[in-house]
Amino acid sequence: MPGSSRLPVSLRDVGAKGSVRRQLIILNIDVIRNIVFFLFLLRWSRKAIRQLRGRGLIGTLVSIYTSTYRTLYNILLHAPGVREQVQLQIAEAKIGLEKKLVPSGPGVERHLRLPADGWANDKVRSELAALADMKHTRWEDGRVSGAVYHGGKELCALQTEAFGLFTVANPIHPDVFPGVRKMEAEVVAMVLSLFNAPEDGAGVTTSGGTESILMACLSARNKAYQERGVTEPEMIIPDTAHAAFLKAGEYFKIKVHLVACKSPSYKVHIPSISRLINSNTVLLVGSAPNYPHGIIDDITALSRLALKRRIPLHVDCCLGSFIIPFLEKAGYATEPFDFRVPGVTSISCDTHKYGFAPKGSSTVLYRDEKLRSYQYFITPNWPGGVYASPSIAGSRPGALIAGCWASMMATGENGYITACHKIVGAAKDIETAIREEPELNVDLRIIGRPLLSVVAFTSNTIDIYAVADGMSGKGWHLNALQSPPAIHVAVTLPIVSARKQLIEDLKTVVEDVNEKERKAVAEGKSKKGIAKGDASALYGVAGSLPTKTVVEELARSFLDVLYKA
Ligand SMILES: *Cc1c(COP(=O)(O)O)cnc(C)c1O
Repeated sequence: MPGSSRLPVSLRDVGAKGSVRRQLIILNIDVIRNIVFFLFLLRWSRKAIRQLRGRGLIGTLVSIYTSTYRTLYNILLHAPGVREQVQLQIAEAKIGLEKKLVPSGPGVERHLRLPADGWANDKVRSELAALADMKHTRWEDGRVSGAVYHGGKELCALQTEAFGLFTVANPIHPDVFPGVRKMEAEVVAMVLSLFNAPEDGAGVTTSGGTESILMACLSARNKAYQERGVTEPEMIIPDTAHAAFLKAGEYFKIKVHLVACKSPSYKVHIPSISRLINSNTVLLVGSAPNYPHGIIDDITALSRLALKRRIPLHVDCCLGSFIIPFLEKAGYATEPFDFRVPGVTSISCDTHKYGFAPKGSSTVLYRDEKLRSYQYFITPNWPGGVYASPSIAGSRPGALIAGCWASMMATGENGYITACHKIVGAAKDIETAIREEPELNVDLRIIGRPLLSVVAFTSNTIDIYAVADGMSGKGWHLNALQSPPAIHVAVTLPIVSARKQLIEDLKTVVEDVNEKERKAVAEGKSKKGIAKGDASALYGVAGSLPTKTVVEELARSFLDVLYKA
């Protein structure tokens, strides 16, 4: 029996100990569950409080309503029957796009494989000439808003020579191409001086405004992470800021808060920004000027906010580029925008816009070297060697740096002041005509008070997209805008000589649209949809739907069509 008596005892012992342990475990799980729940509650109530403080009760309710409405509408779009209908229409639109963008027919030779033997140089040359000459909207005659920031034929020839000398150059190898390193550093130094950077100011060149903006956002995100441990970064931008900021938000997982830029100033609303700032905010943004309306945000007020809350402030001068620094010297009104405003920590400036450098060239500038180093990428353990690069690209085109340097040296300060004169002067002519000439000022209304090269206008009386399509019919390519519906002209040097024609054609088109709308009303039809053009289709019809799913699908098709050989 000893064995059997010992056994139950020890079993009981084990049982008792086990039940204590089990209870402890249950207790622990309970505590942990409570803590997790508490943290969860804390996290969500913090989010809710931030949302309420940032947008207010009504703003929050409106956004809940819109997102519910959109979700339901999207479910409807996916309902059987509806979905097929939508798909069919999108497929039709895609075929339309293909017809417009991809040449086809018996005369068109498509090259889908390498030629077995290389072509003779002359054959390549004549084919290139034919490609350059394909039927297009005539930017050469000043018919295209923005897009072609041309500095004149002579400058183009000089750029081509610069390319020739540096075709193989790559700044990733400064020992092999010391001249390119020197030119890149000098381009950055010259732009820093244009924007009145302090002694410690620093910058890099990039492939374009988008990359410059991506880098500034990345630097701000990395700074907040390293200095403050921010893991859920947020940035606050005007809703008129360039799409590149949204791209940065998507690429780098930074939550983006959009703030309205309301009439009559169309500048970003400062108190709204102030309410949205919280401990996760890594960057504030202002434009000088913005793309849609050419309006400069109140950089001084943004700077005050940035300094008070100790947050970096980026000013997007991609479009302002080499116009805004010269406004004053050219005798025009200006507003504060550069490093002289104390809260400004970074600036993007496109050399490939009004700097007249070849496309693929921009700069991002920082108040000090430390801010710049937050955008660097360095990996010491790569089997390929210690690797360090300043921005997104690895290898970079030295030829573009040479082209940019040559453009800046050949144009010089006086050249840019002259260009500023011509370009801003032409923009003012267009603005004045719209404000003052009776054929235009009844129906068209200028947005805000533009100081630079962009003139945006809307209408309270006629369909502005019909005006855009009417202008397209006359060979112009103006830019359609949305929220509010409007169009703009970004004046470039080629447009300067065409501005009188532009104003005349605008008068004819406005009269035309009025005539058509009167006729439609007389026939008891809707004024909307009288135009059949692209702007009306995209922004009038598709844009009026409650969700942008259809527009997104159309845009996807558009990108697909670009790669159809
Ligand atoms: C053009 C532009 C940019 C940058 O555009 P990229 O096409 O990437 O050079 C950024 N901001 C504004 C306001 C612009 O007009």
